[in-house]
Amino acid sequence: MTKKTIKDVDLHNKRVLCRVDFNVPIKNGNITDDTRIKASLPTIEYILDQEGSKLILMSHLGRPGGEQKPEFSLKPVSKKLSRLLDRKVMIASDCIGPEVENLAGKMISGDILLLENLRFHTEETKNEPVFAQKLSRLGDIYVNDAFGSAHRAHASTEGVAHYLTGLAGLLMESEIEFLGGVLENPAQPFIAIIGGAKVSTKIAVLESLLPRVSVLIIGGGMAYTFLKAEGIGIGKSLVEEDLLETAKSLLKKSDDLNVNILLPVDHKVADNFSENASAEIIPGIHIPENKIAMDIGEKTIDTYREVISKAKTIVWNGPLGVFEFPEFAEGTLQVARLVADCPGTTVVGGGDIVAALKKFGLAEKISHVSTGGGASLEFLEGKELPGIAALASRS
Ligand code: AMP
Repeated sequence: MTKKTIKDVDLHNKRVLCRVDFNVPIKNGNITDDTRIKASLPTIEYILDQEGSKLILMSHLGRPGGEQKPEFSLKPVSKKLSRLLDRKVMIASDCIGPEVENLAGKMISGDILLLENLRFHTEETKNEPVFAQKLSRLGDIYVNDAFGSAHRAHASTEGVAHYLTGLAGLLMESEIEFLGGVLENPAQPFIAIIGGAKVSTKIAVLESLLPRVSVLIIGGGMAYTFLKAEGIGIGKSLVEEDLLETAKSLLKKSDDLNVNILLPVDHKVADNFSENASAEIIPGIHIPENKIAMDIGEKTIDTYREVISKAKTIVWNGPLGVFEFPEFAEGTLQVARLVADCPGTTVVGGGDIVAALKKFGLAEKISHVSTGGGASLEFLEGKELPGIAALASRS
């Protein structure tokens, strides 16, 4: 870890301005999933344990588009956080301005103040320096624990670090360590499982991982562009015609690198793309013209079983079938069980697959479940995330 964390700096008596990811789903004023709030608790508790510290938390919630819309208020979050911590959490009426500065200035040891939604101001997403400077006036030091927003250069994730020393929170630290470990120093055999709908959104991650892995499993809707590129009949399955050449060149590159790419060898198909469509097993690799491949088949899972059980490192992004439809969730579920049983280091990222793992009750058995969808994908693409780059380095 090259970045400084909250454990590297003395936070005694400091007013700590901490960016968290409290962008939780809210229905009729009730938080329907508090995972993100809970994920920030170790950092919050660590900061509060430092004698004399005061904690100012900031986050965005949804897309209010720069307007003070009550349905995007962080008030329900302040109540939830208060309950989880069993202590008082103050909520400010805004995130900048004299009133908030006054409130922050009066804080005493152990106080927690949650600022109102950062995106009530368009300057937040525009990374306006004046806005970032106003935020910075609220604290003595800046902590970023919002890994899920680290791929965005916004005022609260990047701009503010130009005015205050920036430190990684504990969640940010563990994300960097696990995802960075996969890229820099993976124990071999290292296998990547990349699924999901489209090749176009995963091409950069495939390019980045290909030279690092010993086996690359490509599943989900994106597999059919690769199968078509190999001359296999794919029926009415998802395909990106404009990426057939890209798929061919990736397959060629894998030969040059001696990396084994595993594509589906059998399929579960349907007549149409719908939840109630009846499923049919196609035991061979070719898909009939009038069928859509919706999931991988048993033989395909058998080919995965062998490599997954021997892996020392696994990274997984994207489901292997249309897992939202129960009839076509089997492939993703079976592979989730194999990954959960793998004794090596297992890292899973991406909103859909994390949701699937939770639904299957298997998230606990994974070494690291990333809290960032887009951020984890960009990290694995090898990009430097602005929210991480802005943090202070260790010497
Ligand atoms: P992504 O956001 O790119 O990871 O894609 C996730 C989506 O891929 C999910 O909504 C899945 O339903 C979809 N998906 C997975 N397998 C297939 C498939 N064979 N055909 C169409 N969509 C798929």
